[in-house]
Amino acid sequence: MYLSSLLLFLSLGALVKCAAGSDWCYHGCPQSPDHWAEHSGVSCGEKRQSPIDIVTGNVQIDHHLLNFTFVNFSSQHAIKSIENNGHTVKCKLEANQVEVSGGGLNGTYSTIQFHFHWGNTEYHPGAEHTIDGHRYPMEMHIVSLKKGFSVQNATEDSEGIAVLGFFINGTDDGDMSGPWSELTSYLTNTTDTEVDMNNTISIDDLIGNVDLTKFYRYMGSLTTPQCNEAVVWTVFQQPININKNLVQRFPMKTGFTNVYRPTQPLNGRDVFASPTTPLPSSHSWCYEEEPCEYKPSYWHNLPHSNCGGERQSPINIETLDTVTDEHLGAFTFTKFDDKHAIKHITNTGHSVKCVLKEDMVEVSGGGLGYVYSTLQFHFHWGSNKSDGSEHKVDSKRYPMEMHIVNKRKDLTLAEALETPNGLAVLGFLIEEKIAHGRSSSEHLETHPTSDMEAWKKMTSYIPAIHNISSEVNVTDEISIDDLLGGVNRAEYYRYNGSLTTPSCDEAVVWTVFKESVKVDQNLIMMFPTHAGYHNVYRPKQSLHNRKVYTTKSASSAPGPIILLLLLPCLCASSHNLHL
Ligand SMILES: [Zn+2]
Ligand SMILES: [Zn+2]
Repeated sequence: MYLSSLLLFLSLGALVKCAAGSDWCYHGCPQSPDHWAEHSGVSCGEKRQSPIDIVTGNVQIDHHLLNFTFVNFSSQHAIKSIENNGHTVKCKLEANQVEVSGGGLNGTYSTIQFHFHWGNTEYHPGAEHTIDGHRYPMEMHIVSLKKGFSVQNATEDSEGIAVLGFFINGTDDGDMSGPWSELTSYLTNTTDTEVDMNNTISIDDLIGNVDLTKFYRYMGSLTTPQCNEAVVWTVFQQPININKNLVQRFPMKTGFTNVYRPTQPLNGRDVFASPTTPLPSSHSWCYEEEPCEYKPSYWHNLPHSNCGGERQSPINIETLDTVTDEHLGAFTFTKFDDKHAIKHITNTGHSVKCVLKEDMVEVSGGGLGYVYSTLQFHFHWGSNKSDGSEHKVDSKRYPMEMHIVNKRKDLTLAEALETPNGLAVLGFLIEEKIAHGRSSSEHLETHPTSDMEAWKKMTSYIPAIHNISSEVNVTDEISIDDLLGGVNRAEYYRYNGSLTTPSCDEAVVWTVFKESVKVDQNLIMMFPTHAGYHNVYRPKQSLHNRKVYTTKSASSAPGPIILLLLLPCLCASSHNLHL
């Protein structure tokens, strides 16, 4: 009885001591990072731990990650003292002086301290976060608590703490006399002694000219026990550059080496980036005339690429080789007439894309066999008014092509990308509208097709999204029907293909409509002129053993005379579609 009480007492004592966090280490003791999770009351083994490896190819731009507001980062009176606490070097700030807000943070945070993580004297790098597996020499963490919260409150709130992480790079020829020289002059191997700083450097002095608009964001934890999952992480993309001899002062003068926690599993978390952050992996592909690592003929070499498959898009449609399929009936378009369905318009760097409101617009029928949710539409264009469509018909390339992208309603996007008919894309060829004259291809009087006012409104947004990844909300009333106008939606080609941009997933049921949408030339030219790039179409892909199907009446209407005769009934059928 006495013995077991004593054991209980001892183990509780050990637990309390461990929970207080005094006997953990980075290496060379029993409580190294692999064992941090073994004690109750710590979160180190949970699912949203930090640091992480940031895989830039999986990072998503978040347009809410706007600029930060920093209060007193430039004050030379804000840094109060510096201390070697046995694990790191920590600079404490004057209370209630320094603040951070903006940057997508939910409210204002009071900055309390900053500290460092580093490697060893042999130039082994010691940042905590890694970028695509690359580890910088050092990392600085600026720690802020939600304004008004105690440390206790903050560690219990999932967004209670905001940490700003800055990578530090060691250069061969940096300044040996500036603020970093000043800061490192205070480094000591004497632990637990707090030394006052003499008001000569500010946080801004240390950050230097890092672009504070470029950063990654994810939800994580403290990187030391108890690893509380309370941290909104900001990791700036650009490193602070300092002389590598100053980096060396951290391990040399403190006697501590490799004071960083290994990267932790992401466990399905999303990592976001501010809109100006360059994301190299997603922009390493390009079209033929642009400079980049992967031009179209090398897309198949991209990671996770399907671009070398045998059911790729776009193709040249040889009309004489098409096969009539009686099941290719009329489509049902839901909310194509809704003038508020377009949420925003964005410049992806490869196209101009109109993103629709979720779970609103739908497509079914047309031999698809499923109901599809319409996600977005975008455009492919050339450099002048003749060449820019992706699909060709009898070797003719049109000036532009519009793709309306739809996802099978019963699948998630990830599932759809792995399913042969997971996506349905409606392709509309676009050509110049000849005012009061004849359409160049059909030699028919141009009957009223699309609504030029709608095209004018839509293209008027393009100058505002000149910067890549920028987006603007669409406030004008524009429906998809307005843009398509009276184009015949009953006559089309059908084949199984792929996305026409990497990773070229072979998940697309393609519909290419026979009649082109007619748009004023000056509106067509808005795309190459204001998006900042041109000739954004993938070259023709081989058909391999695929067949292209056609709706019933097409092969029986080869000539203009029969088309003329059919015209009244075509108009009638397209009217029916709009009812
Ligand atoms: Zn840290
Ligand atoms: Zn497309």
